[in-house]
Amino acid sequence: MTNTDSWELSEELTMLQDTVRRFMVNDVQPIEDQVPHDTFELPSKLLEPLQKKARDLGLWCIRTPSEYGGTGLDLMGQIVVSEEAAKCRMGAYVPACGAFGSDPPNVIFKGSQDQIERFALPAIQTGEKPFTAITEAGGGSDPRRSIRTRAVRKGDRYIVNGTKMYITGAGQARWGILYARTEMEDGRDGITCFVVETDKPGFEARPIPVIRSYSPYELVFEDYEIPIENRIGEEGQGFTLAEHWLVQGRLPYSAGVIGIAQAALDMAIDWAKQRETFRSPLADKQAIQWMIADSEVELRAARLLTYQAAWRGALGHDIKVDASIAKLYSTETAGRVIDRCVQIFGSLGVSNELPLERWYRELRIKRIGEGPSEVHRMVIARDLLHQQKGRN
Ligand SMILES: Cc1cc2nc3c(=O)[nH]c(=O)nc-3n(C[C@H](O)[C@H](O)[C@H](O)COP(=O)(O)OP(=O)(O)OC[C@H]3O[C@@H](n4cnc5c(N)ncnc54)[C@H](O)[C@@H]3O)c2cc1C
Repeated sequence: MTNTDSWELSEELTMLQDTVRRFMVNDVQPIEDQVPHDTFELPSKLLEPLQKKARDLGLWCIRTPSEYGGTGLDLMGQIVVSEEAAKCRMGAYVPACGAFGSDPPNVIFKGSQDQIERFALPAIQTGEKPFTAITEAGGGSDPRRSIRTRAVRKGDRYIVNGTKMYITGAGQARWGILYARTEMEDGRDGITCFVVETDKPGFEARPIPVIRSYSPYELVFEDYEIPIENRIGEEGQGFTLAEHWLVQGRLPYSAGVIGIAQAALDMAIDWAKQRETFRSPLADKQAIQWMIADSEVELRAARLLTYQAAWRGALGHDIKVDASIAKLYSTETAGRVIDRCVQIFGSLGVSNELPLERWYRELRIKRIGEGPSEVHRMVIARDLLHQQKGRN
């Protein structure tokens, strides 16, 4: 696809894909077999050797710019790695079981040099995961309107009061990015971005159990003080600063769900060839063949949409709609594929002998997180309905 004369990956991307594939099969998957089914964090004695090997391979915080110690892959590189890194039991939530570290929310790189040095660099060094807190009880689909958490300026600090909901990683993180409302008189939405530290008074994190074993958190801010030097950008710039990253982030997200669905389909094909019912393998039954064929067709389409969006992004186009199309189609496809694969495995598909039932639960979240399917449909339809000119 990145060759000008063919639809194949460039030599460089193919090598990257092979490297990650081999690392997953030879290093990550055998380690993961040593921990319980629903584990979301490897113990450090298993994780550290994996992380060391990943760093030696040049795979560390893949989205983080190389000047700050990440691999700094472009969008095409990110999706190639994300697809392969998802192919393990905990891959829906923790790509490569955490071997590649965790990119800090990229909006931090729009901050001051001091913010980058105090917050981003130590997190990149250790690979720990800071959180991003946008969603509130009043709704996550339309945060520009539903954010009620307030940050009120008092001299050289802000006093924050409010509650965030379903925030991933907030129980373990040392810091995170908070989107809160500041007063604006010029008509802007007044959403401002801050770095918040979790060891300061007035901050509390409580787990919210959900469909998967790893709970997101409710965050309560009560007269929580943020020094002005922890504000990123100007007041009211919060989403303007972050939008580029939020949009781009949908592509590795899409590639990850495609990777999991592909792994499930490969398992289902192997199983269909060996499992016999009514004196012949499942693979001979048309009902099963159609499930396999439909899954293959839809996965190829999802992959192409994701690759095309990344390729357009790399050329510098605005990919807001392309990213919504890729996110919508890949997460809905992955949901259908995993459902068919579970069906092909029968009882084994819903048991915890296999990763399928875990993927089934985690893939269900993917149609809600990073914007529910309906919001992406709205973005796509709005764009089409508001186009001034006809399409080529
Ligand atoms: C496991 C998990 C982890 C999460 N991690 C984070 C995190 O780290 N940080 C963070 O900020 N948030 C996080 N979230 C929250 C997530 O981003 C929100 O759940 C999501 O944005 C949807 O918001 P909501 O749940 O409030 O649903 P609502 O906004 O209340 O929407 C409910 C439903 O209404 C429908 N809907 C909404 N808008 C429209 C529309 N325009 N047209 C038609 N139908 C519509 C959709 O079906 C949607 O699912 C997480 C959620 C989960 C489940």
